[in-house]
Amino acid sequence: MIAENLKKFKQELPKHITLIAVSKTKPVENLKEAYDAGQRDFGENKIQEMCDKYEALPKDINWHMIGHVQTNKVKYMAKFVHLIHAVDSLKLIKEIHKRAKNEGRVINVLLQLKIAKEDTKFGLSQEDFFHILNEIETKDYNHVKVVGLMGMATFTEDKTQIQREFSTLENLFNATKDKYGFTTLSMGMSGDYHIAQKHGTNMIRVGSKIFGARDYS
Ligand SMILES: *Cc1c(COP(=O)(O)O)cnc(C)c1O
Repeated sequence: MIAENLKKFKQELPKHITLIAVSKTKPVENLKEAYDAGQRDFGENKIQEMCDKYEALPKDINWHMIGHVQTNKVKYMAKFVHLIHAVDSLKLIKEIHKRAKNEGRVINVLLQLKIAKEDTKFGLSQEDFFHILNEIETKDYNHVKVVGLMGMATFTEDKTQIQREFSTLENLFNATKDKYGFTTLSMGMSGDYHIAQKHGTNMIRVGSKIFGARDYS
């Protein structure tokens, strides 16, 4: 089932879009099945769970931290994490820089923008986004590389609203990518990746459409 779902994605997705298989809450056997079907990019939202799965699985997997990151947990993933999607403070950037330096690595990150209407979603306002870009330009956080933007749309049936939110992020990406050398726009999940595709996404984070529904998230 998992292998079939992945095959379908591979046939349908344009080549320039990277598919992150979001495997949070799913057992290692499920990830292994996806791995054997050729999948190499996996997304998790809890650091401890990602570390356990990293230990248990082949080392050529690209691990994406897609959840909110607590500063005191960066150290656990610093040696292997491939991309941190939801960076939304300077404090977190400083910590990632410090831990990446200890490991002799440069860690790629995305800045998460708040595009949804819901209060509960994390992410930067546009003002704070530009403030952070300024700060990292003038200071030397050379072990962190901001490679693009990430956002989550409101969980709603209202397609127009989702479109509006993705379009906001698309515009911001297009307005900044040349100046800052951004390559990655992480936008779209199981329920809305079709819409994200119309708005220039090049990285989608898909869980339930690959692994089936989660008991909890
Ligand atoms: C869980 C999660 C996803 C995937 O959600 P699905 O609806 O199962 O595709 C994508 N992005 C983030 C940040 C998530 O937490």
